Amino acid sequence: MSRTPLIAGNWKMNGLMREGLALSKAVAAGSAQLPGIDLVICPPATLPAAVRPALAGSRVALGAQDCHPAPSGAHTGDVAAPMLAELGCRWVIVGHSERRANHGENDALVRAKAKAAHAAGLGAIVCVGETLAERDAGHTLAVVGRQLAGSLPDESKATDVVVAYEPVWAIGTGRAATTEQVGEVHAAIRRLLAKRFADGAALRVLYGGSVNPANASELIGLADVDGALVGGASLKAESFLAIARGAGGSLV
Ligand code: PEP
Repeated sequence: MSRTPLIAGNWKMNGLMREGLALSKAVAAGSAQLPGIDLVICPPATLPAAVRPALAGSRVALGAQDCHPAPSGAHTGDVAAPMLAELGCRWVIVGHSERRANHGENDALVRAKAKAAHAAGLGAIVCVGETLAERDAGHTLAVVGRQLAGSLPDESKATDVVVAYEPVWAIGTGRAATTEQVGEVHAAIRRLLAKRFADGAALRVLYGGSVNPANASELIGLADVDGALVGGASLKAESFLAIARGAGGSLV
C-alpha cells in the first residue's frame, strides 16, 4: 500500500503577521522541489487569511491547530470548523497533547472536533500519545489504543483523517522516540486501523516529537511511518523543508 508522505508544521502560538508571511512564502517556494510529498502548515488562528495567498499554486496546504465541535454559537474565544474552511484551511489538528493537558480535552471531545472538521469539509489530524509515566508503567500501547478508539470517528476515511503518534515526553524536549519505540507503536496503530476501517491500510500515520533534519529520514523511513508532525523545526523554512526532503528518501 503506497501512501503519499505528509509533513505538517504546527507553529503553535508563534508568529506575528510579518514572520508568518515570510515563513509561508519560503515554504511555498521550497515546496516546488518536493514532488510527491504533501505539505501542510498550521499557523495560529490569526494568520490563515493573511498567508493563504502566499500558498496559492504551491504544494502547501493550509491547516489550523484546533476547532470547536459546534459549527457556531456562544463559545467565546473559540473558532468553528466552517470558519477555518472559509479561510482556506484544508486540515485541522485535533487532540494535540497540549490541548489535552492544558484544556482538559478528552477523547470524546476530540472525536466531536474531528466530526465537526469533516462536516465542514476539513481533514482532521488526530493526535495520540502516551506520557512518560504511562510509558514507564508499560501502558503505551493500551493508552494509544484507547485514545484511537475514542478519538477517531467511525466514518473516518484515508482522505479525511491522518493520525499523528506523538509521545508527550518527546514533544518540544529534543528527545525524539527511538526507531524501535516508533516502529512498535506505529505497527500497533496500523493493525488497529486495518481492523476498524475499510480503507484502514490507506490511512496515514505520522510521527511527531522532536523531529529535526538530522533524525527525519531515519524516523520517516520506517515502514509504518507516513510523515511527520513537526513543531519547533517548522518555524524555520530551511529545517521544515529539510525534514520534508528527508521524507522524500522514503519514496525511493
Ligand atoms: C508538536 O507540537 O506537535 C511537536 C511535535 O513539537 P516538536 O516537534 O517541537 O517536538
